[in-house]
Amino acid sequence: MQAYDVVVIGAGNGGLTAAAKLAQEGLNALLLERHNIPGGAATSFCRGRFEFEVALHQLSGLGTPDKPGLLRLQLDKLGVMDDLEFVEISDFYHVATPDGFRITLKTNREETIAVLKDQFPHEKDAIQRYFDLMASYANDMVGAFIFRDPEPSREKYPNLYQYALRNSKEILDEYFSDPLLKAVLSVYWGYIGVPPTRLAFAYLSMILFQYMEFKPYHVKGGSQAISNAILNKFISNGGSARFNCGAKKIIVDDGQIKGVITDDDDEVTTRYVVSNISPIATYNHLMDPEHISQDVSVEMKSRNLSTSALTMFIGFDCGPEQLGITESTNFLMSSTDISDGLFDRMNRLDIKDELMVLSCYDVTDPEFSPAGTCQANVVTLKYGEPWLRIPPRQYHDVKFRCADAMLKRIYEIYPEAKNHVEEVEVGTPLTHMRYLGHPLGAIYGYEMLTKDSLFFQPGRHSPINGLSFVGGWAGDNGFEPTLRSGISAAKSIIRRMGQDKNNFTNMSS
Ligand SMILES: Cc1cc2nc3c(=O)[nH]c(=O)nc-3n(C[C@H](O)[C@H](O)[C@H](O)COP(=O)(O)OP(=O)(O)OC[C@H]3O[C@@H](n4cnc5c(N)ncnc54)[C@H](O)[C@@H]3O)c2cc1C
Repeated sequence: MQAYDVVVIGAGNGGLTAAAKLAQEGLNALLLERHNIPGGAATSFCRGRFEFEVALHQLSGLGTPDKPGLLRLQLDKLGVMDDLEFVEISDFYHVATPDGFRITLKTNREETIAVLKDQFPHEKDAIQRYFDLMASYANDMVGAFIFRDPEPSREKYPNLYQYALRNSKEILDEYFSDPLLKAVLSVYWGYIGVPPTRLAFAYLSMILFQYMEFKPYHVKGGSQAISNAILNKFISNGGSARFNCGAKKIIVDDGQIKGVITDDDDEVTTRYVVSNISPIATYNHLMDPEHISQDVSVEMKSRNLSTSALTMFIGFDCGPEQLGITESTNFLMSSTDISDGLFDRMNRLDIKDELMVLSCYDVTDPEFSPAGTCQANVVTLKYGEPWLRIPPRQYHDVKFRCADAMLKRIYEIYPEAKNHVEEVEVGTPLTHMRYLGHPLGAIYGYEMLTKDSLFFQPGRHSPINGLSFVGGWAGDNGFEPTLRSGISAAKSIIRRMGQDKNNFTNMSS
């Protein structure tokens, strides 16, 4: 029976960085992944002459070499920055509606304020005050959280205490009266998966602030290039990885991790497991029920599963300029509704007026797709549960009906697109469920309703000794937080191992 210091289950962002950090520190780690390639959602796939990006729209937290964000610093320490080429995206996003409204917000704060004031002159003063509020809020967050103030207080951080847990719609209503402006300023709710009525203002403001300060990026070769670079680093530092081979069972004895049985029925011993999959699957599918404590059960039941998504990948036989796509990130909007009604839309099995994001990486990186072509990755959010209720023989009809409706919406904004489609592939919540293994195909872990937001997250620790969680189920979702979560989990395991060793030495002396 082989023995490892640590077994990592799942090669998503969090699992990969945890494994790479552990190997870099000289630990003997095994990485198990059910799929045949690394990355989880951070991956790509090929159809015809296109390699389609699955998930990465705008990478946050990187910053520039002169003004590095936390993610750049950590990837640098992991030794993977030299293997990657990042491309800065100059726009936040473009919003387009079928009646011809168009606006592009740039990552430069002053430019964005000017564009907004120009398009919405009746809201001029409120626009300035809103951006000032976001800046003060972000300063408070940085002081209290990034610099970990040991004694935060309402006096020191008034905006943080006043606004963090208020929902975003409430703040937008307080500042603005124009529904279109409110909808334009809140489109990033789609990156968290929670409509503005239940989205903590902390998230909406920090996303905008992060992209303004550290700029959004894409990467040459897509997110698969990041996943490959981290995996290669893990292997070159002595780590072992098995693909097409998941974890079937975690062996626990007397509250302590003892080993893992793989899908190949190979039993390995270890005292530490890092799980990059959901706590629901980890406890319910990989462990015997007697190991699930009452606290863990209650915690799991108190959370909602996040939304999944309908995704469409389109390869065009021409460049983006011929289609009229001038920005990388485009929100196609046909309703200014930001109320709870968005939850109903996400539960429907059709497409009418859903918000859709269309990313065209070729705008910033003309070499992204084969010469003379470009690709679009289009996403709209949909809960998984209604898709599970579709009888199998109707599944393809529903999927293609939705795909047709999405294409129609795209052609409304970019009419030339319909003459240049060369490849189309569609993913549904069931596709995400199959490839990620997450319950109901949830793409953002647990739902980040205000009550479950950053201050109240389950965290990465388990009452079972030696078990920790990384990735989107253990904290915030998105590339930056999940990549960073693996590194901090690895550091904490290394510290823990040191303590265990000391305890053992003390006991035996
Ligand atoms: C369509 C889409 C669009 C997105 N857009 C963005 C974006 O623009 N910006 C952004 O920052 N984030 C975006 N995200 C979110 C981001 O991709 C995720 O937050 C992040 O990739 C999740 O990483 P993770 O570490 O949680 O692992 P996951 O990606 O969830 O990977 C988990 C891994 O575990 C494996 N696994 C499952 N069960 C087992 C088992 N029993 N044994 C072994 N392995 C197992 C799976 O195969 C998978 O590889 C998007 C996600 C999706 C799906």
